Amino acid sequence: MGHPHGVQAQLAWLERLPASVVVIVGDRFRYANAAALELMEAGQGEAFVGRAVVDFIHPLDLHRVLARIRRAEREAVSNPPTEFRALTCSGRQRVVAMTSNHVEHEGQGGVLAAFLDMSERAAMEQRLRETDENFQRIMHTMQDVFYRTDAQGITRYVCPAVKNVLGYEAQEIIGLPAAAFYPDMRERDALIAAIREQGFVHDFPGRMRRKDGVIIDISISTQALRDEQGQYAGVEGIWRDITQRKAMERELERMATHDDLTGLANRREILEQLEQALQRRRDRRAQSPLSVLILDLDHFKRINDGHGHAVGDRVLRQVVDAVEGRRRSVDRLGRLGGEEFLLILEGADADEAYRAAERIRQGVEEAPVDLGEGQVTHLTVSIGYAQALAEDRRASDLLERADRALYHAKHLGRNRVSA
Ligand code: GH3
Ligand code: MG
Ligand code: MG
Repeated sequence: MGHPHGVQAQLAWLERLPASVVVIVGDRFRYANAAALELMEAGQGEAFVGRAVVDFIHPLDLHRVLARIRRAEREAVSNPPTEFRALTCSGRQRVVAMTSNHVEHEGQGGVLAAFLDMSERAAMEQRLRETDENFQRIMHTMQDVFYRTDAQGITRYVCPAVKNVLGYEAQEIIGLPAAAFYPDMRERDALIAAIREQGFVHDFPGRMRRKDGVIIDISISTQALRDEQGQYAGVEGIWRDITQRKAMERELERMATHDDLTGLANRREILEQLEQALQRRRDRRAQSPLSVLILDLDHFKRINDGHGHAVGDRVLRQVVDAVEGRRRSVDRLGRLGGEEFLLILEGADADEAYRAAERIRQGVEEAPVDLGEGQVTHLTVSIGYAQALAEDRRASDLLERADRALYHAKHLGRNRVSA
């Protein structure tokens, strides 16, 4: 390039070069190859060659680029590549990377500069930056916790939102095994097994321990990560605190299955439990005994009639307490309706059922019942009992026998137990 006529001699191949090449002398373009004219959107060489370099450089990059051009003009140096914003003839902005060398052009010191159009790359970088910013913004504001672990289960990323849910800063968690935040390690094993098997999980239930020690219910949606060789490389996904939802579900479940007044299992629930107990008995083949008691308070209408329905309600609760105090904890008590209750005694034959019933009958008889305003009374209960038989087809067969026994107990004068 040091040859005085170097550029002219090489014009032919410069024209064919895919890279943009220009020659600059005294801050003006003296030559531009076809690729350069296209890059600069110059229709014809004349409109571009001869014009001042400063017209084609973004004002904010001008100082830096001119300094390089002048340096290459003066001395026999090669400038390392530099990126700047060029302006085309139609005023469009292009990001270009320029390398510049000293050249002798028609006896004068000039600059031979080659350009690569970096606009595509610059646009891509801009998009990446925006994507990254969006990602960071989402990570800061979302209620869910985004995380990523490696194949060893070590947390490699967790979004800052984790602070709101677990109370830890993300930095306190990153680098530690994800399992360290589970109250029970085995729950995480189950999760990982499911992910390894299907590649993902949706709304997988789990629990985590907050920094303050409180255990929360979480729901996890996560997928397996694979490396280029297809090897398991960890998991990535989100989990969410569903403690409130769980509490609400439990409350709805309780409301659907329990009686408001007494807190006992309601009719549907206690009958369902009886069906299940009978099923368990059939499954066991050994036909372990099972008995039921039906309880009905004696002359309860008198309480209502004499003291009002509200007192009746209070009395009902007190009698339930007395019954609860005399039953085994494994036995299930439910309210069939009104002042009628069902007690399921799994493993109890007729003799044991009788003894249990007698114990409860006495317990109710002895328990003082507060009517309010200093009045105390005593109530009694009649109880019918029945043991499940091999020939019973359904729960109702057993219940009918217990009901008949109850009727019998009433008929015999109440406050008694009958089969
Ligand atoms: P018996 O000894 O024959 O059982 O006489 P009883 O008065 O208890 O008669 P029965 O069992 O037929 O009637 C039960 C009464 O209990 C009818 C109803 O007024 C009352 N009762 C039913 N459910 C409730 C309740 O939730 N609250 C109140 N306060 N009373 C109820
Ligand atoms: Mg009654
Ligand atoms: Mg009744």
